[in-house]
Amino acid sequence: MLTEPIITSDPLEQAASLIKHSKYVVVMTGAGMSVESGIPTFRGEGGLWTRYGPPKMDGFKQFRDDPVGWWQKRINQQMDAHIIELRDALVAAEPHTGHHALAGLEKVGAVHHVITQNIDGLDLKAGLKNLTEIHGNRSRLRCIQCGQRMSLGDFVPIEPPEPCASCGGSIKFDTVMFGEPIPADTLAEARRQIDMATCVVAIGTSASVRPASGLLWIAKANGASVIEINPNETKLSPISDVIVRSSAGSALNSLLNLLKICEETPSGAANEPTQDVRSA
Ligand SMILES: [Zn+2]
Repeated sequence: MLTEPIITSDPLEQAASLIKHSKYVVVMTGAGMSVESGIPTFRGEGGLWTRYGPPKMDGFKQFRDDPVGWWQKRINQQMDAHIIELRDALVAAEPHTGHHALAGLEKVGAVHHVITQNIDGLDLKAGLKNLTEIHGNRSRLRCIQCGQRMSLGDFVPIEPPEPCASCGGSIKFDTVMFGEPIPADTLAEARRQIDMATCVVAIGTSASVRPASGLLWIAKANGASVIEINPNETKLSPISDVIVRSSAGSALNSLLNLLKICEETPSGAANEPTQDVRSA
């Protein structure tokens, strides 16, 4: 244990204070962030792998060995049951109030960058601007050779996509598969952000999927303070400076309220009502 975690009667105020006094705040979100939008988690109670069994770990190899065959299976709906359930949940999902609150925290300058392990694109949909989607985004396609990304747009897989127009490489969903390395540009950007962070906030992540989770330990080693928002204890808990045992939505809304007040209230007027807030 590197630091004694601070568990106060009001950890949200501790977290808000830490965020407010930090120069560069990077948030990392995991599956627990999207569960309130109806997207199932993978691990733990009710998780996809708990119900359907562990996934095959060689998804990327299967794709690389036979991209056309992989797409044919997809077109013929011959996917594993957990993938079908996840796909349907992703299609139906909308951002929840926590996604909007996170975008709000960015807007008031409290959060500078978000690294998400989620592939659902809900952060973008909620209006977040500074985002690294470390496991890709399911609404894009990507060339596995040159890394070029294309919006999925109206693409419906009724036949395998044409090879990349730039390099002839195979095209897959942008989503990072098992056994697939994180695209180098994405990983480099995530690392650049982590190296700038003076505070990291881990929300709804079990902190067990590498290399994303490793970034949190790098931030800690760099001297950043660590805030954990998670209803459950995780591997990150022992090195966290503040722990908020809460769902993502509730905690983010509370943080936005606390930090918005800090932002909007001029010093010395802490008790003044702030009803007269007109949009600029
Ligand atoms: Zn290409």
